[in-house]
Amino acid sequence: MKAWVAAALMAAVSTPAMARVDYAIDLTAPDHHTGQVSIQFPSAGATLDVKMPAWRTGRYTIMNLANGVSDFAASDASGRALKWEKIDKSTWRIHTDGSGPVRVKYEIYGNELGARSRHIDDSHAYLDASAIFMYADATRGDDVSVSLKLPPAWKAYSGMESSAPARFIAPNWDVLVDSPIEAGVSQFRSFNADGKRYDLVVWGQGNYNIDKMAADLKTMVPKSQTIWTGYPFNRYLFIVHATDNVGGATEHKNSTVIQFPRYRFGGDSYMSFLSTAAHEFIHTWNVKAYRNAAMVPYDYQRENYTDLLWMEEGSTEYFTAPLLVRTGLLPTAKYFDVLADTIDSNKNRPGRLVQSVAGASFDEWISNVDRNRSSNAWVNIYSEGAIASWALDIALLRDTGGKVNYRDVHEELWKLYGNGAKGFTSADVRAVLQRLTGHSWDTWWAQNIDMPADQDFAALLAPVGLKLDMGSGPVLAQAGWQADEIGGAMVLGGVSKGGAAWNAGLETGDILVAIDGGRVGPSRFRDMLRERKAGDTMAVSFFRRDQLMSRKLTLGGRPSGDVAVTLADKATPAQKALFERWLGVPYPSR
Ligand SMILES: [Zn+2]
Repeated sequence: MKAWVAAALMAAVSTPAMARVDYAIDLTAPDHHTGQVSIQFPSAGATLDVKMPAWRTGRYTIMNLANGVSDFAASDASGRALKWEKIDKSTWRIHTDGSGPVRVKYEIYGNELGARSRHIDDSHAYLDASAIFMYADATRGDDVSVSLKLPPAWKAYSGMESSAPARFIAPNWDVLVDSPIEAGVSQFRSFNADGKRYDLVVWGQGNYNIDKMAADLKTMVPKSQTIWTGYPFNRYLFIVHATDNVGGATEHKNSTVIQFPRYRFGGDSYMSFLSTAAHEFIHTWNVKAYRNAAMVPYDYQRENYTDLLWMEEGSTEYFTAPLLVRTGLLPTAKYFDVLADTIDSNKNRPGRLVQSVAGASFDEWISNVDRNRSSNAWVNIYSEGAIASWALDIALLRDTGGKVNYRDVHEELWKLYGNGAKGFTSADVRAVLQRLTGHSWDTWWAQNIDMPADQDFAALLAPVGLKLDMGSGPVLAQAGWQADEIGGAMVLGGVSKGGAAWNAGLETGDILVAIDGGRVGPSRFRDMLRERKAGDTMAVSFFRRDQLMSRKLTLGGRPSGDVAVTLADKATPAQKALFERWLGVPYPSR
């Protein structure tokens, strides 16, 4: 299937498409989160298998998107009903006479806003085609058109080309499925930057200033050229959902959808909106234009296993704050705080000693575990992927005396794989590293990517004239748990592997009621920690399975004070020069 699709996609580029698949969706009764979909497929063989994807790009987990389909029906061109049956959870097999087009109709239920897959209500519709529109393998490479029937006053936006209001066209289903549609009553701005056109559409009430948003995005987008030469698009669409209760963002071929709390667009939290926008925009190159071979083309029916998701997500994250530093929107010193937070969270994550970033990439599809398990046994493709990218950046800079940095690696991947014809493996990335530096990176890769890596952060900072303070205050006693206050009691929500509570045999869900025989709640316990020191023991009484139990706990300790990244006391000219190659801005003066 994959080889055929690749061939079909190539053919679609050079020759006029063979046929067209016409999609339509009626959204004129959106109150109950439903739309009526109809699709016309060109003539097929004796049977036509039509499918819904099992996942959407950007969220690497099986989502079973067929579960929103109901009232499925198929007919021939004259309207005669055709027999059909489901052959697996996502596939409908239609028995045709092979003579003409096949029409498919069904209702789609869209009420998963935070999944950024499909959401239909009385104010808007967000339609990611992987959660809305069925496809057939045989026509995946064919031209598509999409028509929307909308309530009055609604408008529709997408990264696809528009042939008329509420009507879009794309050269194949893969472009449709990577070009979500936002329809509804929204605010809209457009701007040009570096010869490209940008549209910004915002749905929902909130304390945003759309003109400031557009101005800041306009400052940010050309800074992409500090990483890559050239753009994979002519027009780009930012879709913003000002929302409650959900958050996050997803990258697409020439668009993104960003969900952000409606009243957090002001003050310091606005920077986190800009960071999200920068992260998603960077993905337009890293992941969308070029990506790992397991996802070229995407197989929408099953997991696409790769050991490189740390590069897709972690390297994108690693490039994000520096991009904003280069715009001047984020002060350099604030980037040092980002690094300090990254270090702090990594050092408090026992899973860093258990799982490699390559392993986390492969297992991302099953990474939906609870926070406690995740912290103790896993690393995160975003945060630890960013750390791996950082370690590689510094290793390259040191190795080449500042000639090669990690941005150069991505420029090379963009040049080699940016046309989307094929993806790369980790061996291909190592080949790029070898070509850029003149020697093998296999040993570095084995130690930092394929094995769990406990990074020496001071050693990552020193070459660029920075230093690390892991907290220099007096040692404070630690119990090694995170507790939530529920009904006045302390309920353990996290127990850090190898910490004091872990060693005492305490576990998440334990309800702590007393220490050394005295009743204790969260505030009394905080006071108690200040009165005791590392090495002191305490008898902890708690309920587990409704039984009162007790364990002896020996307190651990850690220095008080925040982790901080600061300028070295006396940076040399060589360190300052390497800093500039690393971050792309001058070394700050004190
Ligand atoms: Zn991402």
